Amino acid sequence: MSDFVNQQNARPGGYDKVIAGIAAQNVCPFCPERLAEFHKLPMTRWKFWIVTDNQFPYTPSKHHKLIIHTEHIDHVSKIIPEAWAELYGIIQELVGDTTMVGGTFLMRFGETRFTGASVTHLHANLVQSNPDDTSYDPALGLRTRIG
Ligand SMILES: [Zn+2]
Repeated sequence: MSDFVNQQNARPGGYDKVIAGIAAQNVCPFCPERLAEFHKLPMTRWKFWIVTDNQFPYTPSKHHKLIIHTEHIDHVSKIIPEAWAELYGIIQELVGDTTMVGGTFLMRFGETRFTGASVTHLHANLVQSNPDDTSYDPALGLRTRIG
């Protein structure tokens, strides 16, 4: 059992194996000093947040951004007002940059048995599904766990 990841919440198909490997090391994959070891996509560092594409995006999606709190916190109640303000600016920039005319902003927090999160380090997901993808089922849409 890892303090940093929850293997039960990791999606199957490869991501689950990555999370199992991280659990075995018992390290946080989102803390800045280890992030580049586990995350291979370009990242933009803000003062309070790190922004990048999800290496294991929900499918089918056109965009799946991760917005990772720089300091290791695990609960939304620990976000200070200045970080909330910066997050607002990040979202405005991302929505503008991607011309995201519709999407979902999702931030799980706290004990992962209540959230479905695989990584406890606080982060948000900004997702735009892809209804034009052949795998998209209009009756189901894009689904992910929130609990
Ligand atoms: Zn961390």
